[in-house]
Amino acid sequence: MTATGPAPLRFANEPVIREILSLFRERGQSQYGGEAVSQQEHALQAAFFAEQSGADAATVAAALLHDIGHLLHDLPDDAPEQGVDDRHENLAADWLATRFGPDVVEPVRLHVTAKRYLCATDADYLRQLSPPSVLSLRLQGGPMTDAEAREFEKHPFHQVAVAVRRFDDAAKVPDLPTPSLEHFAVSVDRAITKSREETATCQR
Ligand code: FE
Repeated sequence: MTATGPAPLRFANEPVIREILSLFRERGQSQYGGEAVSQQEHALQAAFFAEQSGADAATVAAALLHDIGHLLHDLPDDAPEQGVDDRHENLAADWLATRFGPDVVEPVRLHVTAKRYLCATDADYLRQLSPPSVLSLRLQGGPMTDAEAREFEKHPFHQVAVAVRRFDDAAKVPDLPTPSLEHFAVSVDRAITKSREETATCQR
């Protein structure tokens, strides 16, 4: 007897995984704002560094998807050079919020805030920022004040946001070999399943 019907699902959350893969397929080859890597290479490297650090699935997913906002708007790659802050972190977080739990959404929403925090609290940090990142920092409000930094430290996801920010900053290496999008889709899938289980538990 031959099996009929749709092909078996590879992922528990196949529709979301497909959406993400097609966003990268359609738009991931665009340049990552003035850096020597594409959006897709940048995302893969950030997720790769997160995975290498032993981070959980949600943090690997957040690292992979932290700049998905850039794939959701039509502003040019060099928007910061034209003095435009694309607010990609909010665009990304709003999109992710209908698909993931706060352990993915909040580090992504805060990854620009985390840069402003690190500039205020880590003397070496500002020195190692790439020129495009220094340029966008100005549009993003510059380094935090002490009071803003203390306030940020109270956020339950501030440490994860800082970790994602560091993976983001490191993820600008030309031609670095990394695992594929499909590899990291396993962590993305796991993160969605976990957030759905948690939502179900809260509603019980
Ligand atoms: Fe980034």
